[in-house]
Amino acid sequence: MLTFAKKTQHCVDLIVSKSCSNNEEALSQLNHYVWVTMIILPIAIFTSAYNAYIENYTLAFLITLFSAYTIGSLFLISKIKETYLLYHGANIIYAFLILFMIYHTDMENSRILWAYIYPIGIIFLFGNRLGFLYSSLLLGMIVGLFLFIPQLQTAYNTEFQVRFALTYMIVAFISSWIAHHRERFQKESMQTQYALFLEQALLKEEIERRAVLEKELQYLAQTDPLTSLYNRGYFLEMAEKELQRAFRYDEPLCFAILDIDHFKRINDTFGHPVGDVVLQALGKHCLQSLRETDLMGRLGGEEFAFLLLHVNEEQARAKMEKLREELSQLSVADNTGSTLNFTVSIGLAMLTERIKRLDELYIQADEKLYVAKDAGRNCVR
Ligand code: GH3
Ligand code: MG
Ligand code: MG
Repeated sequence: MLTFAKKTQHCVDLIVSKSCSNNEEALSQLNHYVWVTMIILPIAIFTSAYNAYIENYTLAFLITLFSAYTIGSLFLISKIKETYLLYHGANIIYAFLILFMIYHTDMENSRILWAYIYPIGIIFLFGNRLGFLYSSLLLGMIVGLFLFIPQLQTAYNTEFQVRFALTYMIVAFISSWIAHHRERFQKESMQTQYALFLEQALLKEEIERRAVLEKELQYLAQTDPLTSLYNRGYFLEMAEKELQRAFRYDEPLCFAILDIDHFKRINDTFGHPVGDVVLQALGKHCLQSLRETDLMGRLGGEEFAFLLLHVNEEQARAKMEKLREELSQLSVADNTGSTLNFTVSIGLAMLTERIKRLDELYIQADEKLYVAKDAGRNCVR
């Protein structure tokens, strides 16, 4: 039974998917219509055949007409946008069929029982309000037939008529009550779903905003704001990692400290802002000159540090010598419309077997820097 229902739902979904409407409510109603059609169609075909067999041709013809309409409407779903017209058409034909069966009591008067299907199907299809209105309308017409067609008063006695009207109304009420609760539940679950969807979208936005903020924060925490080079903390953190790697793979490594010569004089002569420009120009030039794998950071003030990877002492010295030379040629605009030049002193320390920690390498490079300063500046030691 369950697999049959699943298969029917699959079939219903297939027909509904052909619809050109993308309105959720319209599609849900279409789903109901196709379901009602799927249930009623085999019964209608069978009843029509049976009536033909018992030679009740008029009724057989009318039921065949109804079946043909419902089959045709399934094909029309993909063609027309106003699918609700199809439901109204089916509703009118079915209601007329019931009235005809009640009116036509020549040999059978139990056909009136088909009327009970009407409120159930129509409320399921049109919902609580419209469905109940249609059901009441049909009952009104049936009562009208009872009252004004004399042969019906003999076919159905008064007790039967009253019982029929009451039971029909009870069926309509129960169907309406179920539809009302189903609609309310559906509305609530849609609202919850929408709220959930909204919440999810907001959450995603917040996560993205925080990710951007975190990146910005990380950048600020790692970068020197004046030169955009790595700041002291981050440079030393990265240098520590590289040092560990060099230890593990026994690779050569050079730590260098660069200090601008007589930087105080530049500040005093041209002003602090020009000093800042010198620091920026130095940083920019060094970054361009270094390999991508080498590290550079600003230790503070006019002191910079370098970590050159995969170089022996000779190569490191040549590299820093070249950098020193280039920097001494670098012209920076001063505040008088002219340019100024500056020199730097550099101290080198190579990683050796005796060195175990980064601060030992740092101290050695710093000592060498002092040697370079003592040697008259503008040199590498
Ligand atoms: P030496 O050749 O011995 O290194 O002499 P020096 O003048 O370069 O060294 P000193 O340590 O006496 O002076 C460093 C100066 O760098 C002092 C300080 O005002 C300046 N300084 C530090 N940070 C900044 C900065 O961010 N911008 C500017 N413009 N100057 C800075
Ligand atoms: Mg200096
Ligand atoms: Mg200094």
